[in-house]
Amino acid sequence: MDASKRQSWNEYFMNIARIVATRSTCNRKYVGAVIVKNNAILSTGYNGSMSGAPHCHDVGCMLENGHCVATIHAEQNAIIHAAKLGIPMEGSSIYVTASPCWLCFKMIVNSGIEKIYYGEFYRDERTMLWADKLGISMEHIPMETLTLPLDQMP
Ligand SMILES: [Zn+2]
Ligand SMILES: [Zn+2]
Repeated sequence: MDASKRQSWNEYFMNIARIVATRSTCNRKYVGAVIVKNNAILSTGYNGSMSGAPHCHDVGCMLENGHCVATIHAEQNAIIHAAKLGIPMEGSSIYVTASPCWLCFKMIVNSGIEKIYYGEFYRDERTMLWADKLGISMEHIPMETLTLPLDQMP
């Protein structure tokens, strides 16, 4: 294998977040999140309905003020999964395919996650302002710079 083509950690985890996003069940937004510490994955999550509840893409969305409120966002699902298993998130990083909404951002902050890597920018400017105030690092990884090295797959 060509070592110069080897993915960086950032590319690797953001590419995994993109794969995770493909499991989303709400057509309005496909998002994937991966929580990482010391270059190891602690948890993953995608945008989807409550466990056992029907999927938006089967029964339609539950719209409120132009937003779908049926789903649990990718970041929330990743945090909930880690919490459910008792995995501490203190000092970890989260890779999300779209920048967090205000609610997800607040949950990220209080879960102890210290770094947010996001793909596309999504809607909320407050997160940038508050990340700065709270000492949370927020880094943009432009999606167009990512390539899944499919040619290296066996
Ligand atoms: Zn929906
Ligand atoms: Zn959110």
